[in-house]
Amino acid sequence: MSNSEPCLVVDGLSAAWGSQPVLRSVALAIAEREYFVLLGPNGSGKTTLLRCIAGLERPVAGRIVLDGVDVSGLPPHRRRIGLMFQEPALFPHRTVFENIAYAPLLQRRPRSEIDEEVGRLIALLRLEGFEDRSPGALSGGERQRVALARTIAARPRLILLDEPFASIDVELKAELRAEFRRVLTALGIAAIHVTHDREEGLFLGDRVGLLFDGVLDPVGPPGEIFEHPRGPRAARFLGYNVLRHDGQLVAVHPREVRLESEPRGHSLATIHAIGTIGGESAAILATEEGERIEARGPGVSAGLATGSRVYVVWERSVDLGDGSDPTLTPRV
Ligand code: ADP
Repeated sequence: MSNSEPCLVVDGLSAAWGSQPVLRSVALAIAEREYFVLLGPNGSGKTTLLRCIAGLERPVAGRIVLDGVDVSGLPPHRRRIGLMFQEPALFPHRTVFENIAYAPLLQRRPRSEIDEEVGRLIALLRLEGFEDRSPGALSGGERQRVALARTIAARPRLILLDEPFASIDVELKAELRAEFRRVLTALGIAAIHVTHDREEGLFLGDRVGLLFDGVLDPVGPPGEIFEHPRGPRAARFLGYNVLRHDGQLVAVHPREVRLESEPRGHSLATIHAIGTIGGESAAILATEEGERIEARGPGVSAGLATGSRVYVVWERSVDLGDGSDPTLTPRV
């Protein structure tokens, strides 16, 4: 992140569907060139936030400031914001080249400049050879690359990406993520990327913000967000076990759990399911108090079976306070 004036400021933004609040006083600043990831479960308000920033939804309170200018009253096409969805909205009867050239033509830029820019984007997104194809003759990943090129060609100030890889095959996803990140970083375009996929979010973001029920947690670099979950809900969403220990709630990552047969662990638990995932040992357990525990990796020793009773030990935990809301503790 640079220290320059933020590219985007979202100030006290609240939104509702009818009487149902969806965003609650969201505050966020996106720096010049920043790749920001908004991470949260389905229904937490991520799309609504993007739609408010783009001008497609009217918030009930708050402001959207782009480059120091309040754009809250401006229609979407005057905000210089590019929006990309899970399913790319390409023109089916135009070629790849024509799809990418669409916005520059509308902007009445000189033909030679348009040809040069579209050619540059085709090279940047590795679409050479596809120029004359129609979108129907492309794979899902290629269509998303065309959609990104088309969004960039409009020269937006900021790009909003709403679950852009949700319908992409898993083998291609990692490659496409890295590619999008590379292209937007190379061009220095700020982006807000929305996803419910924690791995995707933690991999991509310069900074990450977790959104639950329309409330944005304090944002930070992905390592910090992962290492220091701020509450039971964030911890569970990030893949931690949330357990009660000595009257406190603690977050314990499944890879920090070790299963012991000797009584020197934190609590006794029964193995409900055990097996391997991608060559790694994994087990689901339930404690006598009914807490569900997941364990993964070398701490799950060979020779254990469903129904075995073991002691649970952990190397590292994050304190989550006294957990005054007991419903937040997952039970089997
Ligand atoms: P996310 O993108 O995190 O999945 P959304 O912003 O799509 O969340 O939705 C947030 C909440 O707003 C959900 O409870 C959803 O049911 C509600 N919502 C979204 N779109 C509409 C709509 N068109 N009409 C009524 N409620 C909606």
